[in-house]
Amino acid sequence: MSAIDLAHHIHPFCDMKDMARHGTQIMARGEGIWIFDSQGNPYMDAFAGLWCVNIGYGRKEIGEAVMRQMNELPYYNTFFGTSTQPATLLAQKVTSYTQGLMSHVFFTSSGSEATDTWFRLARIYWKVLGQPSKKQVIARRNAYHGSTVAGASLGGMKHMHEQGDLPIEGIHHIGQPYWYADGGDLTPAEFGLKMARELEAKIDELGEENVAAFVGEPIQGAGGVIIPPDTYWPEIERICRARNILLIADEVVCGFGRLGSWFGHQHFGFKPDMASIAKGLSSGYLPIGGVLISEKVAAVLAEAGDINHGYTYSGHPVCATAALENLRIVEEEGLVERVRDDIGPYLAQSLKTLEDHEVVGQVESVGLLGAVQLAKDKSTRQRFKDPDRAGRVVRGFCYDHQLIMRATADRMLISPALIISREEVDGLVQYIRHGLDHLREQHLD
Ligand SMILES: *Cc1c(COP(=O)(O)O)cnc(C)c1O
Repeated sequence: MSAIDLAHHIHPFCDMKDMARHGTQIMARGEGIWIFDSQGNPYMDAFAGLWCVNIGYGRKEIGEAVMRQMNELPYYNTFFGTSTQPATLLAQKVTSYTQGLMSHVFFTSSGSEATDTWFRLARIYWKVLGQPSKKQVIARRNAYHGSTVAGASLGGMKHMHEQGDLPIEGIHHIGQPYWYADGGDLTPAEFGLKMARELEAKIDELGEENVAAFVGEPIQGAGGVIIPPDTYWPEIERICRARNILLIADEVVCGFGRLGSWFGHQHFGFKPDMASIAKGLSSGYLPIGGVLISEKVAAVLAEAGDINHGYTYSGHPVCATAALENLRIVEEEGLVERVRDDIGPYLAQSLKTLEDHEVVGQVESVGLLGAVQLAKDKSTRQRFKDPDRAGRVVRGFCYDHQLIMRATADRMLISPALIISREEVDGLVQYIRHGLDHLREQHLD
């Protein structure tokens, strides 16, 4: 199977030569937070697939609901004034979690398409309001907003930009609120304000009359689970309001309970004008995403006439059914509250015990989204000379011991399914500690 895969399948974010050396690993089955390869080896998946399998693997209810919908109506579109029952009910359901903030949703099949969608809608919004020059968009370095051309452009990943002559025109980046790396002598609170004010400076440089929107992940995911200081989001929100630009939250990772709230912006207490969703919306069981749209923006879009944007699979009835069933489970099992009041604090407290380790600079988490920051010298916040290598050492060790964890440079990322048990958290933290011991023994510079 691995040989066939290598012969015919180009994988996302993968070095083909490297993969040819190691072979592909075929995953075959999942149960709870465990995933089994084709040889039957179990792996603890501390990453919920790709931050998405929030209800865990192996939920038969979803398969059954999807099967019923498949047999009833496998597909119809939502173009030209038609809809299906699952798409309609899902629109009602997802907006109901927004505390009255978002009145509408536009469905997509992925987070990347959601990015492209709000990007276009933001420009349409200002055009309808008679300010067509407002079309520049500001994002952040090291952000991740997907892999389409607009997504990769808005994302702030240098290695992605380099491979595609990106970003496209009209997109600008400011710094990220990564205190451990860039905070210097500032307190986190001071640093949060400083980074937020980069937005103000960038708007002034471009001219407020030319800027449509600012986008940020409430907590940057792929960029390394960068948790901003508390001062950051309120200041960003103040600036967006004062300068009259749209505030967009990319909730693809933070949404649907990961932070112990329905959405990341609720955790940080700010009110975006639009928000992209995907991943946890269906727990990855089927591909579906969308853009939540506030009453204010929806009212303007209603004056736009034909909005010439849409995907064949927008609101796909089978995918919408999977999402509805997933959300039913999240609600019925009280997973958002569980993350907020029980397993989130438990993970935080367990992870904190790693801070005594010589190669750990800082441990941070919100809900079930966490990061272990590696350090060469914790007393001075000095990092390893080759941060990527340090992260690879720990990740590789854990993988060899059947724990799937991800690293962004020298931050070990943790994002397990919301159903993870306390015992599983204990095991997870214990294995990370072994990985850290292994790193210490390498004596890297
Ligand atoms: C995964 C991700 C996306 C892109 O979603 P896809 O479904 O992979 O297109 C966008 N934003 C964030 C924050 C993500 O983590």
